[in-house]
Parts: sequence; C-alpha cells; structure tokens
Amino acid sequence: MIITELKPFAEIIDSLKDFNNIFLIGCGECATTCKTGGEEEILKLKQSLEEKGKAVVGFCIPSAPCVASQVKTELAKNMKALKSADAILVLACGLGVQSVKDNDRLGRKIQPALNTMFGAVMDAAGNFYEKCSLCGECVLDITEGICPITLCPKGLLNGPCGGVDRGKCETDKEKDCAWVLIYKESEKKKGLAKLKEIQKPKDFKKTTKPHKLTLEKNG
Ligand code: SF4
Ligand code: SF4
Repeated sequence: MIITELKPFAEIIDSLKDFNNIFLIGCGECATTCKTGGEEEILKLKQSLEEKGKAVVGFCIPSAPCVASQVKTELAKNMKALKSADAILVLACGLGVQSVKDNDRLGRKIQPALNTMFGAVMDAAGNFYEKCSLCGECVLDITEGICPITLCPKGLLNGPCGGVDRGKCETDKEKDCAWVLIYKESEKKKGLAKLKEIQKPKDFKKTTKPHKLTLEKNG
C-alpha cells in the first residue's frame, strides 16, 4: 500500500487562498488505512476549512481514486456539487491526485492535501514498513524474501559493507544490517549457496520513469 501523511493545515489553507468553494475527495483504500483520507479525516478537514471561511460543497470517497473507472463513477454521481466548486482537494496519494486530474471533465483546480511517502506493508499492530523500492528486477528469490535494495541504505547486492558492526547497520546502530538478516534467513532456509553467486549490477534502465504497462487482452 501507499503511505501518506496529511500536509500541515497552514499549507493546505495557503494552497486554497484563491478558492472559496471546495470539493473534497478521499480514498477508500490506502489513505483510509493510513488514516489520512477516510471519512473521519474528510469530515475533520471539512470542519477546519469551514472554520476558516471556506464552503465545502461536497465530498466523496472512491474506493480507489487511482483507478479511472472508480473515480469517474464518483465524479459523475457528484456532478452538481462539483459544478459549484472552484477547487478539488484530494486526500489521496499522488497517484490518486493525478487520476482525479486526468478524469475531471470540468477542469477544476486540483490540489493535494497529502504528502506521499513510500510503499509499505502493514503489520498486525498497524505499523507500516517500507519493504520494496519497485526496482523492476526482484532478487527476493536469492535473498530469502528480504530486500537489500530497500533495507540496506546502500542498496548493496553482494553482501554487507565494511561498516557492519555486531550485526547492526553503520548508518543506524538501532537497525539490523540487512545483509546479516539475509544471511541468517538463508542459513535457516538452507539457501546459503545462492549467496555465493555474484549478482550483476542492477539495470537502472528498468527504473527510468515514467513506466507504462499495457495488459494484453484475453482472446
Ligand atoms: S528486489 Fe526489493 S526493490 Fe526490487 S522488486 Fe524486489 S522487493 Fe522490490
Ligand atoms: S551495515 Fe549492512 S545494511 Fe548498513 S549499509 Fe552496510 S551493508 Fe547496508
């Protein structure tokens, strides 16, 4: 999931200084889970905006605003309120904001209310951990499911650097060295032999942006 945080309210208000009638769009997936773009956060922001003299003319929460079909449906359902809005404030990640922009037929000013931080997994206690950097050449098969690109600050592919200190990372003594974790896991899973193979440098062409993928149609 994509992790987001709410921008400081002063920044949001400043971004809306030329607009009075605001429509809010949240996100029913990641931003709801992060508690940045669900109904509770929308209503809280609505109240704060109204206290500053803005008129919140409506809101909606598409289940995934990054999916065109979902955002289009919600925009169509709310067309009357949207026609009275000067600006749309989006409580979703940067993907959601851009998807709203791409699908807004009225050409309204689109403003982000959130900062987009990283992709993460969530544990049972509700903590978010960044575990993948979307490198386009996954090596988790070799590293027993522990990502060296993300968990090692240097993104090393062939074992630890010389700075590892009693199993901890030289950049942060509180953090385990990613390669010590990989070694221990490989030992447990009898995968040490794989670590002897030298990994070629990553093909950074695979991370050249922007990516585009077209799915083949069946039949
Ligand atoms: S190697 Fe790491 S960054 Fe690359 S795809 Fe796999 S998990 Fe993601
Ligand atoms: S100590 Fe380990 S995790 Fe830290 S930078 Fe070196 S190899 Fe990477």
